[in-house]
Amino acid sequence: MSVARFWRETPRRYNLGGSKCTQCGTVYFPPRLVCPECTHHRQSIEKMVPFQLSGNGEVLSYTVVHEAAEGFEMQVPYVVALVTTDEGPVLTGQIVEVDPERVRIGMRVRATFRKLREEGAAGVIHYGYKFAPEDDSERAPRNPPTEKLPASTSADRARA
Ligand SMILES: [Zn+2]
Repeated sequence: MSVARFWRETPRRYNLGGSKCTQCGTVYFPPRLVCPECTHHRQSIEKMVPFQLSGNGEVLSYTVVHEAAEGFEMQVPYVVALVTTDEGPVLTGQIVEVDPERVRIGMRVRATFRKLREEGAAGVIHYGYKFAPEDDSERAPRNPPTEKLPASTSADRARA
């Protein structure tokens, strides 16, 4: 993604600003200019208003990722989930501050704003929303980094 496009999108990434159709009440994130739910789409053009999502919702489905994408190497395993927000839109986001084994469908979560990744030599830092358990008792500190090299590997190296 270009830097320009990123900065254009930053406000909504930060605050979950969506839009709402005042004709039928459907909420959209990212915001839309026309409501596809309304029978007469064109009539909704003037009826869309900015709408602030609360960031609260529940886990619809999730995946535990063990193989990190480039730029996420320090974070495996991590959990990516579809979250149904209380206002309706379904968002994709990482679930943080939880043991991946404790994540479950229906778990209540709330949005939190985090550094997502640092990009290349330019050091562009992307921020965005992630989700954390709403219930503090579900929260866990992040696992300490683990040593990935098995003992045999270092022994092999020593011989080489
Ligand atoms: Zn509508």
